[in-house]
Amino acid sequence: MHYAVTSRGDETSNALQQKIKNYLNEFGLIFDEDEPDIVVTVGGDGTLLQAFHDYAHRLDATCFVGIHTGHLGFYADWMPEEVEKLIIHIAKTPFQVVEYPLLEVVIRHFGDEKSERYLALNECTVKSVEGSLVSNVSIKGELFETFRGDGLCVSTPSGSTAYNKALGGAILHPSLATLQIAEMASINNRVYRTVGSPLVLPQHHTCLLKPLNDVDLQITIDHYSLVHKKVKSIQCRVADEKIRFARFRPFPFWKRVKESFVGD
Ligand code: NAD
Repeated sequence: MHYAVTSRGDETSNALQQKIKNYLNEFGLIFDEDEPDIVVTVGGDGTLLQAFHDYAHRLDATCFVGIHTGHLGFYADWMPEEVEKLIIHIAKTPFQVVEYPLLEVVIRHFGDEKSERYLALNECTVKSVEGSLVSNVSIKGELFETFRGDGLCVSTPSGSTAYNKALGGAILHPSLATLQIAEMASINNRVYRTVGSPLVLPQHHTCLLKPLNDVDLQITIDHYSLVHKKVKSIQCRVADEKIRFARFRPFPFWKRVKESFVGD
């Protein structure tokens, strides 16, 4: 089996990364950063998000497992003390694979035939660089509303516990192939009106955002943030691809939610 180990880059994570490499090499696994069957991330959720984007071109052939060297993460859910146990699992046992849905984002610009396609593990957010975002929101080809406000967040089920949660969105189980649209401070008065609640769309229901004012947009895909000019549309739907996690023990999603947000 071919493997890669990524690190957040701090001293603790780097030391653990080296330890994992040594162990896995001893077990006869092959270190291969280009075409790994499994990627072990050491750091936090951000480290796993980064690894996901680094290997997004080969999701069908790569599994992920995350170790947290800080607080318990949503994706990075193994503790440093469990590393030996995890290594033996990776080296000796055929592991189960759990798949989580992803978000596909296609951005089109005025005066450009080409579109840009991204995959997000957590979410895509759209804000105006200056003033409010004014954008039509269509669902499945039908105009749903004209949004005015700080911005919109379109998240995956596994990303529903991240930015989406801070916006009052629901926590969705990652077995549901859905996307969720959450508002950021919409303007609602006698002139402007939006639905005001987070919306959960099933697979194949595309959400299309069409900005109505000519402003630069700040668009994030997970931890990446880019300013886009002359945006014609941002199309979001549940992606055909999925992320695959290597599972060596049960750690139910709701248990993770409880431990992270409610307490023991
Ligand atoms: P970061 O270091 O600022 O991390 C933000 C926090 O989000 C970390 O504690 C991380 O563990 C947590 N996190 C990441 N994914 C999560 C998930 N799926 N469920 C629960 N918690 C999660 O930035 P980063 O590590 O580069 O992560 C980028 C993410 O930060 C974005 O995808 C976005 O979801 C999140 N974010 C949240 C807010 C907010 O809650 N107001 C604002 C901006 C970004």
